[in-house]
Amino acid sequence: MSKAIYPGSFDPITNGHLDILSRAVKVFDEVVVLVAVNPEKHFNFTPEERVEMIKEATKQYKNVKVDFYKGLTVEYAKKNHATHLIRGLRAVSDFEYEFQLASANEHVDSSIDMIFFMARGDKSFISSSAIMELARNGIDVSDLVPPSVSKIINKK
Ligand code: ADP
Repeated sequence: MSKAIYPGSFDPITNGHLDILSRAVKVFDEVVVLVAVNPEKHFNFTPEERVEMIKEATKQYKNVKVDFYKGLTVEYAKKNHATHLIRGLRAVSDFEYEFQLASANEHVDSSIDMIFFMARGDKSFISSSAIMELARNGIDVSDLVPPSVSKIINKK
C-alpha cells in the first residue's frame, strides 16, 4: 500500500491546500495530512483546531487521515511507513524554500522522497496568511477556504 504525508502549517487549511490534496489522493493509496507543531512559531489556530478544520474539510476522502506532530516530518514518515512527502509550489519564492527543505530532508533520510504539485493558476495566490489578512480587514474569504473554515474565521 502506497502512503504519503502532506505536511504543513495549515493555519488554516485553504482551497489551495485542498487542491493539492485532491491530486495527491489519486496517486497514493493513503495520504496523511500532518499539522506542524512548532512552539517557537506563532499560529492563528491551535494544533487541535487545525486538525479539526482539516478533518471536516476532507471527510469526503476515505483515504485521508489527519494528525499532528512536533518533530521532523521525515521521522514521522519513516515511523508511519510512508515513502513520500507531498508539497505544493506556487511562486518562484516557494521553490527556494522548498528546495532547501527537500535538501535538508534528504540529509536526514534519503529514503523518503518529496513530490511537488504545481499550484493551479486560480489558486496560486491563496495562502493561509493572506486569508487571515483579508479576513481581518473585513473581506469575504468564503470562496477561498472550505465552508467550515470560513465559519470559524468569521467567528474569530
Ligand atoms: P508551511 O508553513 O509548512 O509552508 P503551509 O500550510 O503554508 O505550511 O503550506 C503547506 C504546503 O502547501 C506547502 O508546500 C505550500 O507551498 C503548499 N501550498 C499552500 N498554499 C498553496 C496553494 N494555494 N497552492 C498550492 N500549494 C499550496
